Amino acid sequence: MLTQCPGNAFQAAAGALLAAILPAWQLPRSGRSRYTASPCLPKSLPMLDLLKPLLHVDSLLHVRWLLPMQGPASALSHQTVAITDGIIVDVGPSQELIGRYMAGREYTLDRHVLMPGLVNAHGHAPMALLRGFADDLPLQPWLEQKIWPAEAKWLGEGYVAAGARLAIAEMLLGGTTTFCDMYFHPEVIAGVAAEEGIRAQLAAPILDFPTAFAGSADEYIAKATRLVDQYRHHDRISVAFGPHAPYTVSNEPLRKIAMLAEELDISIHMHVHENAQEITDARQRDGLRPLRRLKQLELLGPRMQCVHMTQLLDDEISLLAESGAHVVHCPSSNLKLASGFCPVSDLLAAGVNVALGTDSCSSNNSLDMLAELKLAALLAKGRSGDAGALPAWQALQMATRQGARALGLEDRIGSIEIGKQADLVALDLQEPRTQPIYDVNSTVAYSAAASQVSHVWVQGQLLVTDHQLTRLDLEAALQEANRWGAGIAAGSLI
Ligand SMILES: [Zn+2]
Repeated sequence: MLTQCPGNAFQAAAGALLAAILPAWQLPRSGRSRYTASPCLPKSLPMLDLLKPLLHVDSLLHVRWLLPMQGPASALSHQTVAITDGIIVDVGPSQELIGRYMAGREYTLDRHVLMPGLVNAHGHAPMALLRGFADDLPLQPWLEQKIWPAEAKWLGEGYVAAGARLAIAEMLLGGTTTFCDMYFHPEVIAGVAAEEGIRAQLAAPILDFPTAFAGSADEYIAKATRLVDQYRHHDRISVAFGPHAPYTVSNEPLRKIAMLAEELDISIHMHVHENAQEITDARQRDGLRPLRRLKQLELLGPRMQCVHMTQLLDDEISLLAESGAHVVHCPSSNLKLASGFCPVSDLLAAGVNVALGTDSCSSNNSLDMLAELKLAALLAKGRSGDAGALPAWQALQMATRQGARALGLEDRIGSIEIGKQADLVALDLQEPRTQPIYDVNSTVAYSAAASQVSHVWVQGQLLVTDHQLTRLDLEAALQEANRWGAGIAAGSLI
């Protein structure tokens, strides 16, 4: 909520005086002095402070709790974040910052926790249109008998745009500010993401076999490199290579991808060791496990984002740690497709960076990162027999800072620090399911729901306010999604 807390009469008079004598640059853009318009001033401003020039910022966020996701694990109370030009320019106790800045807009979020925007490090956004289309099947029949035939029939730019917009609406309303996507027509998804204000890494798909999108591995790679050029200097959109999986991309294109990724300085995003069948088939076909093959092809390194990783030997965990490759854990998808269990605690103990993703709406069936991080924590405990495995704070790290690191964006997002982009999420904790509060990390990780996300900023732009999307036309997105859903259900092209 945007509050307007009137200052007292003295402040108003002092403001009028200062407005008359201060140079114009010291006044807020509205031309009003903080003493007449800026809310929530401390009641006891020292007299000398009244004469200090105030710095103007675009926005001030006064919050009850702050989870900066850097430094100590505990939440900070009564904090203020100052934002200018989409960058966090100051963070500190509200008592101190309120006397230092005047802002164009101020938000008093006194029931809320502010945290970095969630990073959904793996998904296939347009598949939101296939939510509930094919459930309760193992991976290969699910892919080969349901998903791929459906995509062969409906895949096109209109389908991709409608699905991406539906997914972005769901993600923003649930606190996701950055998503990584691997799907056909990444240029369309990039366009929708750019338009709707969210941050995205598009992993341009690469396969050996032809689809409606491209006819050969070379054509997929050429399309990917063109997209890299197109978004090379974009603030919020980055492009990676997205070879689908070791079993769908052969050695020659994989070597080319490894070489080009170095040359273009981009990431590689790939499903790896998703289930046991993948390993069995690879050993029969190649005589070695997929991760070893990727190592031989020189794909393993800090550019590599390995999604799933449910089948790992101890020496493979060491290999990942030595190479600096990242793992993206997708617990809901792994459970729903009965793929296996990613050994998250072992990976973290070995020093591997582990991020978190929802995977697609067809294998989840939601894009709810708060639900995903809770499930990740619970699964790690259940699997290890150790209730201390993957504590709340670490699960939150996976959904924020570690996600940012996996996408090569840690210097820009993933924590609330001066100099980072203002990708921020506020959750209203004054709800039955999140009261009382003893430990904010626990409250957010184990109790909070996506519906409690009240405000979302990406690069300082307010995209959700009071639980409502500000830029994306939700009604139109839902109508379009329903139109596609009706066509898909009827088996007809629309
Ligand atoms: Zn996937």
